[in-house]
Amino acid sequence: MKITDLKCTVIGQNPVVRIMTDQGIDGYGEAEATKSYLRPYVLFYRDYILGEDPTNVESVMLKIRRLGGFKPWGSAISAIEMALWDITGKASGLPVYKLLGGKIRDKVRVYNGGVRFELKGFFPRDYAENMAKIKGAKEGFTIVKQAIGYHGPMARQVPNFTYSEIRPRVGGFNPSRGPLTESGLNHVIACVEAMKKVLGDEVGLALDCGPGWTIPDAIRLAKALEPLNIMWLEDLLTGDYVPYVSPGMYREVTTSTSTPIHTGEQIYLRQNFQELIEKRAVRIIGPDPCDVGGIAEMKWIAEYADLHGILIAPHGIFDGLIGIAAHIHAGATMPDNYIAFEYPVASPEWWYDIVDGLPDPIVTNGFIEVWDKPGLGVVFNKEAKKYLPEEDADFFD
Ligand SMILES: [Mg+2]
Repeated sequence: MKITDLKCTVIGQNPVVRIMTDQGIDGYGEAEATKSYLRPYVLFYRDYILGEDPTNVESVMLKIRRLGGFKPWGSAISAIEMALWDITGKASGLPVYKLLGGKIRDKVRVYNGGVRFELKGFFPRDYAENMAKIKGAKEGFTIVKQAIGYHGPMARQVPNFTYSEIRPRVGGFNPSRGPLTESGLNHVIACVEAMKKVLGDEVGLALDCGPGWTIPDAIRLAKALEPLNIMWLEDLLTGDYVPYVSPGMYREVTTSTSTPIHTGEQIYLRQNFQELIEKRAVRIIGPDPCDVGGIAEMKWIAEYADLHGILIAPHGIFDGLIGIAAHIHAGATMPDNYIAFEYPVASPEWWYDIVDGLPDPIVTNGFIEVWDKPGLGVVFNKEAKKYLPEEDADFFD
């Protein structure tokens, strides 16, 4: 089998990759909804992979993997990898999870993620009210994540929060960092306590915190929250589009507290997880299959983390519906260091009408059941064509 074409379009907000072959089998991959600019970067790789046998996934990846980078520049490579597995599964009549070694679970736990209700303010009562709504969501999440501190608007909205400069957001990203005031730190702790009061011990609470915290504040927060048994504190120091990892700094925080420390959503490739894992710099890693280099890359990292006693909770909030398939096939095969992946919702809503193959409802009691259709098992139906941008009207042809 030979690759005859690589196409990319943006459907709604998510870039979608299609790889075509001389045997009429095609494969799809997807990138985060925040990256509608990705199309030319995906097409950059087209000439490198034409004529290759897509079912030798690793052989194709060796030609292009070096030409990627930390988030967002690993996404194009990751989406191509996903599409190659989709083709290989369809060609062999097997679901992708079988090609990764087979599943060890029939349903994969998710955490929320993408199901969001309006946060009316940034004070404890607002967070408590918001958590009550998420706890009551029809998906029945057993773990939810909330943004606090430098992640999201809290630092900008709460007076006297930090000793540092609050800088305006650039392209949706928060460039502020620095030491918190005592009242800022107390504010964060009060909000977390309010959320835990609502969730009790029935639903686990994870917190996306930064990046931007100083080491002493990170340690103070993690220690103060110890009695609350938080699932994890995410990206306190670096993470979320920061193009480096800082394992030494993370290790200092991790070894100071029993609260699990988490990072990794922006990291590209196993090599960039190596020091984090070998130094046991965090307790939990969170690669995203749409950024780390793909499905098999994430599976490898999960295995290596398990060898070192580190857990995995993959990032995924913007990964879309093909992204869910990538998470399911990888998650079904990971060792028991697996916790849950971050559940994305599709945007706009009509995305749910243009793909077939997902369970209905997708999430039941906080889990998604693993399906057995060949490849990724999520396919576009006839409705999809309507939503193509004009310049890509021939995307499905
Ligand atoms: Mg995050």
